[in-house]
Amino acid sequence: MTLLNVAQNVSLQPYNTLGIYATARYFALIETIEQLHALLESSEYAALPRLILGSGSNILFTHDFPGLVLRMQIQGIQKIIENSDFSVIEVNAGELWENVVEYALDQGYGGIENLTWIPGTAGAGPVQNIGAYGVELKDTLENVTVYDTNSHQERIFPKEQCCFGYRSSIFKTNPQYIILKIQLQLTKHPELQLQYASLTQAIQTTGQTPTNIREVAQLIRKIRDQRLPNPKILGNAGSFFKNPQIPLVQYQKLQAKYPKIVGYPASEDQVKIAAGWLIEQAGWKGKRIGNVGTYAHQALVMIAYPGATGQAILSFAQEIQHSVQEQFGISLEPEVLIV
Ligand SMILES: Cc1cc2nc3c(=O)[nH]c(=O)nc-3n(C[C@H](O)[C@H](O)[C@H](O)COP(=O)(O)OP(=O)(O)OC[C@H]3O[C@@H](n4cnc5c(N)ncnc54)[C@H](O)[C@@H]3O)c2cc1C
Repeated sequence: MTLLNVAQNVSLQPYNTLGIYATARYFALIETIEQLHALLESSEYAALPRLILGSGSNILFTHDFPGLVLRMQIQGIQKIIENSDFSVIEVNAGELWENVVEYALDQGYGGIENLTWIPGTAGAGPVQNIGAYGVELKDTLENVTVYDTNSHQERIFPKEQCCFGYRSSIFKTNPQYIILKIQLQLTKHPELQLQYASLTQAIQTTGQTPTNIREVAQLIRKIRDQRLPNPKILGNAGSFFKNPQIPLVQYQKLQAKYPKIVGYPASEDQVKIAAGWLIEQAGWKGKRIGNVGTYAHQALVMIAYPGATGQAILSFAQEIQHSVQEQFGISLEPEVLIV
C-alpha cells in the first residue's frame, strides 16, 4: 500500500452501525502512523475538512461528507509495565474495544470487565469516556497519545488533562486531536463492581453472584443481550441521547407529579434522569414512523430500519426532544455525533 492511498466517493454505509447511506468525498483506511502523518502533512489533503472514524457506532450521517474520512485501523495490544499489583497495557486506536476486554479477562486483569460489549474502537473510548454498569473508561485510563493536527506533533495527555466527565472529554470538543493510542492500568487484585442497579437486580433474580471478572462480564453480556439490539440485525447507535442532569429542586417538583420518575444523584444539588424513562413516558417507546423508530425494549435506542435516511432519524430525534421538552421541561442532548 502506498502511503497516500485515498479513495474517492466512498459509501460510508458499511462504516456506521446505523447503516445510513452517505458518501465520503475522500476516504482512507489508516493502518500505520506513517500513513496518517503522510496524509495530514500532504498539500493535497491536509486542509480538507476531516472526520476520524472508528467503527461508526456513535455517529449519525445526515449528509455526504465533503472532505476526508480517516478510518482508524492501527491495531495491537501490548503490556508495558507489570508488577505484582497491576499491569499497564498500551492499546492502539484502531483495536476493537472488545478485544481489549477479552485480553484483560484472559490475563485476569480487572477494571474493564463492566465495559464488555461496548462496540467500537479503543481510540474512540476516551472521546466520550465510554461507560456502562457503574464503570467508566477514566477509572483505568492512564494517558492518551494524540497527533495534534494543529502543531503536527504527537502529544501525551495524562488522565488529569483529559477533562473527563459523563460522556465527555477534551477530545469530544477538540477534533484537532487524533487519538493514536491509550494506556490503561489494570489491577491484578480485582474488586468486582456490582453495585449498579440492573446488576443487583439480575443477581437477585438469578440468585447467583459473580465471583470473578469473567463471570461479571458474562452477566453483563446477558443483560446487554436482552436490552440492546444487535446493530448487525437492527441498525442503531446505542443510546441516542445522554441522560440529562437537572437541579434537585426541579427533580423534586417532577417527582411530586411523576412519583415513578427514574433519577440518580449526580452531585449535591443535581440529579441525573434516565432519558429512556422520559422518552417512554412521552409515548415514544417502540414507536415507528416510516423507516425510523425506537427500540421496543429501550426507548433510548433509535432504530434505523432498512432504507432509513440520516435526515429522517434526525427529524424523529427532534420530535422526541420536542415532546420531552414540552412534557417535562427537560432538554435532551444527543450522545451520538451528528455529521
Ligand atoms: C449497541 C450499542 C451499544 C452501545 N453501548 C454503549 C455503552 O454501553 N456505553 C458507551 O459509552 N457507549 C456505548 N455505545 C456507543 C459507542 O459504542 C461508543 O461511543 C464507542 O466508543 C464508539 O466507538 P467507535 O469506534 O464506533 O467510534 P465512532 O462512532 O467511529 O466515532 C465516535 C466519535 O469518536 C471520534 N473518534 C473515533 N476514533 C477516534 C480517534 N482515534 N481519534 C479521535 N477521535 C476519534 C469520532 O470522530 C466521533 O466523534 C453503544 C453503541 C451501540 C451501537
